[in-house]
Amino acid sequence: MIHFELNALVRSNILKMEKYASARDEFSGKATVFLDANENSIGSMSSRNLNRYPDPLQKQLRSAIAEEKNIRNAGQIFLGNGSDEAIDLFVRVFCEPRIDRIMLLPPTYGMYRVCAAINDVAVTEVPLKEDFMPDTEKILKAAEKTKPKIIFFCSPNNPSANLMDPAAVEAVLHGSNAIVIVDEAYVDFSGAPSWTRRLDEFPNLVVLQTFSKAWGMAGVRLGMAFASAEIISLLNKIKYPYNISDVTAEAVLKSLKRREEKEIMVRRIVEERNQLMKKISGLSIVEKLLPSDANFFMVRFANPEAVYARLRDNGVIVRNRSGLLNCRGYLRITVGTPEENDILYKALEAYAKEQS
Ligand SMILES: *Cc1c(COP(=O)(O)O)cnc(C)c1O
Repeated sequence: MIHFELNALVRSNILKMEKYASARDEFSGKATVFLDANENSIGSMSSRNLNRYPDPLQKQLRSAIAEEKNIRNAGQIFLGNGSDEAIDLFVRVFCEPRIDRIMLLPPTYGMYRVCAAINDVAVTEVPLKEDFMPDTEKILKAAEKTKPKIIFFCSPNNPSANLMDPAAVEAVLHGSNAIVIVDEAYVDFSGAPSWTRRLDEFPNLVVLQTFSKAWGMAGVRLGMAFASAEIISLLNKIKYPYNISDVTAEAVLKSLKRREEKEIMVRRIVEERNQLMKKISGLSIVEKLLPSDANFFMVRFANPEAVYARLRDNGVIVRNRSGLLNCRGYLRITVGTPEENDILYKALEAYAKEQS
């Protein structure tokens, strides 16, 4: 591994600044009368008791997540308002606007670029290869030349749906002194082990996960970042003090007690995906189907706009990804319920018949 020095990567103003100390940071012991945070002591207009500010560091929720994810130290977990909050905070902790840059491997998730743009941070792009796998040599060369502060891997990748070759990720973790973020939003659908089990080996590794996909909780907004306690404390230093609501924490704590049901749901989605892809692959209008490790897949048509319009006319909305790098002709389809997948398939089948 190339010499890695965390503080050399952090923006100097972030290193220097004092963290905002909220009322609940300054006192967290036992007391009976809380007159320190200007809350409404009399009650709440909500049907639940939400008149108090939530725990700024989410102790209970983080320890439950540490157990679920086999993380030794809850200090290695950051919780955000979706993993999108973590992505934004990483850019802001490490990248000096107009000076520093990040590296992306397109086609990939759009938020990395958006967060860079908001913060006036430049982007080095190293396209995935034709098989949508990372090009290790080119990544390392470009990293040496352009010195990105952060390199983003998305595995399984959105939109191409494939897991990134672990040997490539490992080579970049070893061969670069940047922060390497592996976004595992879809890892539960892949059957692959999480990179969280390698956290102790790589001081520059960050893993992102979310409750939005496999857990079926996109509406509660909870994302996770796993990294060294040193990296996590930097995020906690600059996050909004009360970024996770009690409503969110409560819903997630409940869901963690029903983890077997989540596993069953994931298996159902994967089975449904495999069946749907098999059926769709038989249609004459389908040029190519990319293999999937996620709860969505990419399918290529000669005329994706026409297929999109036909599906829309049948009330089915998919994502047209044809404009992305190396994605010409591709629609991205999320796996639905058996009934929804049937509606989708029948609409495609009818369209194919007309075309032949
Ligand atoms: C859906 C998705 C996320 C999740 O974002 P949240 O803010 O946690 O809902 C993160 N990364 C990728 C690649 C995604 O597709």
